[in-house]
Amino acid sequence: MQQKKGIAILGSTGSIGTQALEVLEQYPDYFDLQVITANRNADLLIEQAKKHHPNTVVIADESLYEKVKNALWDDDIHVYAGADALSQVVSSNEVHTVLTAMVGYSGLKPTIAAIEAKKTIALANKETLVVAGELIKKMALENNVAIYPVDSEHSAIFQCLTGEFQNPIEKIYLTASGGPFRGFTTEQLQSVTRAQALKHPNWSMGAKITIDSASMMNKGLEVIEAKWLFDLRPDQVDVIVHPQSIVHSLVQFEDGSMKAQWGLPDMKLPIQYALTYPDRFPTKFERFNFMDYPELTFEKPDPKTFRNLQLAYDAMDAGGTMPCALNAANEIAVQAFLEEKISFLQIAEINEKTMHAAATKGTPGLEDFVAIDSESRAFATGLIK
Ligand code: NDP
Repeated sequence: MQQKKGIAILGSTGSIGTQALEVLEQYPDYFDLQVITANRNADLLIEQAKKHHPNTVVIADESLYEKVKNALWDDDIHVYAGADALSQVVSSNEVHTVLTAMVGYSGLKPTIAAIEAKKTIALANKETLVVAGELIKKMALENNVAIYPVDSEHSAIFQCLTGEFQNPIEKIYLTASGGPFRGFTTEQLQSVTRAQALKHPNWSMGAKITIDSASMMNKGLEVIEAKWLFDLRPDQVDVIVHPQSIVHSLVQFEDGSMKAQWGLPDMKLPIQYALTYPDRFPTKFERFNFMDYPELTFEKPDPKTFRNLQLAYDAMDAGGTMPCALNAANEIAVQAFLEEKISFLQIAEINEKTMHAAATKGTPGLEDFVAIDSESRAFATGLIK
């Protein structure tokens, strides 16, 4: 019998994590759930552990260790706590693939640990590549580790490239829904609320990425992610607004031919593809019906109004630690917006000011990213008070 594929899900209690568990549940003969982790949501983590019986669970917040440990006392499951434990558990011999579904900068160190342990990476945590793309790519190469994208746009590009590895990419187009404020002017954006920003028209996601989608920062982060994943120059990565979110992204080859991957928006598909690659397993996901979408439309993005998209291109052009500074500022600003301490437009203002203040380092190592991340967070926090 074929050996089952051992899976670690970092961030199992989030939007991607819970959908990944649904995927694994469909193929019990193929997947073997080894590790699940959460930050503070102990109740859901315990519920998931009791239902899915992983070998190990980790709660990042150490104050919740006793609660999780006591709840799983009789279940023959290893329980650990703390940020360092996240990095340690991924290196278990039983783990084949690590799905990085944590949010933000917190994904960086566990991803590095997983690469060092030569685990295949199914990468949802785009911030890891935004912060330290060059380092991660170098480490993956040195350790002969594959990084399969989970982000729907990058999964689309990855799927379009199947069978094309000898054929250089001329350009890629990342599609963007435009989010809830598509077409808004700066004046209209001045008064938008947290509740409006959290209402994405096509996708149901975690709070941070939903705000990033509304501000176009998500697309900016994806542009940087794509540069590293597919080894592209900045001018080879373009963004096109596609409000229906049916075409998930496109590749243009040097003969002018374009390939797109499309279907109904459902993150379970790219999650599954990253976990089963190169195979496609049958699913019962709802199928696309042409008659429901008589028109697919495309528009130019508006980086003047949605400043974050331009800032991401600027950070990518500057290179080095600049994307790390932008990411740190954005995490602080988005959190402040979610806590209703700043307005929607202030997110981009804080990001821009932090970038201007940030020192850049050309070929940074991990310690440089750690330093720039914490300096930029402190600077951005200072702008909020
Ligand atoms: P959620 O906010 O829904 O979930 C985040 C997960 O990470 C939760 O399990 C959370 O635990 C855990 N977590 C948060 N902070 C920490 C921390 N400091 N240490 C350890 N664990 C932590 O996020 P999403 O699932 O929406 O997104 C996850 C990643 O996937 C992001 O990088 C996002 O950009 C990317 N992505 C998401 C998509 C989506 O559809 N949601 C689509 C494409 C990419 P707890 O529940 O305890 O807080």
